[in-house]
Amino acid sequence: MGGIVLNGKVSIVTGSGRGIGFTIARKLAEHGSSVVLSDYNQEGLEKAAEEFSESGFEFIAIPCDVTRKDQVENLVKKALEKFGKIDILVNNAGITRDTLLIRMTEEQWDAVLNTNLKGVFLMTQAVSRVMIKQQSGKIVNISSVVGLMGNAGQCNYSASKAGVIGFSKSVAKELASRNINVNVVAPGYIETEMTATLPDSVKEAFLKAIPQKKAGQPEDVANAVLFLVSSLSDYITGQVLNVDGGMVM
Ligand code: NAP
Repeated sequence: MGGIVLNGKVSIVTGSGRGIGFTIARKLAEHGSSVVLSDYNQEGLEKAAEEFSESGFEFIAIPCDVTRKDQVENLVKKALEKFGKIDILVNNAGITRDTLLIRMTEEQWDAVLNTNLKGVFLMTQAVSRVMIKQQSGKIVNISSVVGLMGNAGQCNYSASKAGVIGFSKSVAKELASRNINVNVVAPGYIETEMTATLPDSVKEAFLKAIPQKKAGQPEDVANAVLFLVSSLSDYITGQVLNVDGGMVM
């Protein structure tokens, strides 16, 4: 279990039906937090809930599409009905629709910006209202190193992830006096279902650009999030923590 204790805390993790989000949710639960699992993928959410039940974690699972304000408000309402407060929000839900600028459709642009950036806005606005009343909270937004360095074939995704960083720094300034920390984790190349479909040439290019010469695991991202939602990081806000084997320095 380590030294970090989240006993009595309540966490919401979006997109926690699988991948990095699920691993973050499990990490927070292992350290004592009650968890609101949430995803718009019903099958993934059910599977995650089964694993949480088997592990004996305290949790609820609420379907939520982060692009839908009504569903976001319902998620916050259900979390409060069950646990009475929200201490931690991890905005993890994200998608890619990769193609070159020249070929990108408006639908591909809108889908990625809506999920990765508007979704973070809607969730953060709804949850920060609760945190402001509580006068405490920790928010961690999952960006990406491509939001810092760009990536051919991902102009929509890179724009959304750069947007998350600007958004987070602004909100960190707005909420700092309310005892609410807002930070960003920017993963590099992490082995999940999202990256499994990348062409081998892209994977090889990533590996070449990583000083540690290996892909990261969801666990590596979850460990960084754990630090940023714990009291160990109380004096840290508005920061971007890259989890990328040294790809961006
Ligand atoms: P993943 O395996 O695709 O998991 C993302 C989860 O979020 C899926 O269950 C997905 O459902 C769900 N989701 C998508 N859109 C949603 C929405 N509108 N509302 C609620 N849930 C939604 O992805 P991952 O690799 O774990 O990535 C997690 C986060 O890390 C993302 O923000 C991603 O951009 C970021 N990231 C990943 C990497 C990497 O190398 N994997 C690197 C940098 C950053 P569906 O499966 O139905 O779409």
